[in-house]
Amino acid sequence: MIDIHDDKKQAEEWLENTEGEMSQEQLVYLAINGHKECEHYCGSRELCELGACYCIRATFPTPKLYELYQQLRKTYVEMESLAVFSGLSKNLQIVKKDKAEKIFGNKYAKDN
Ligand SMILES: [Zn+2]
Repeated sequence: MIDIHDDKKQAEEWLENTEGEMSQEQLVYLAINGHKECEHYCGSRELCELGACYCIRATFPTPKLYELYQQLRKTYVEMESLAVFSGLSKNLQIVKKDKAEKIFGNKYAKDN
């Protein structure tokens, strides 16, 4: 365990930090798989501002890279749900109008 004051101090320093690099490979990997640490309770997160907890700082050298990761992750998750949605509609052909009656019953077919 790191000391509470050290943790806070490190978080403040990290929030100001602009130096450090991550490879594209690392960012893409994390965007696809998600940054798993700190999903549940995190003592460091309770203390440190703006989510700058130990787990985040250990992975992302700068807040800018963490921001970039969050944007990439969001985009990936959206793309993934689109792919699932598109796959579902293809497989089940639920977009076809003639299936509407089967899915919604006669009422839907009459109203349309
Ligand atoms: Zn954490």
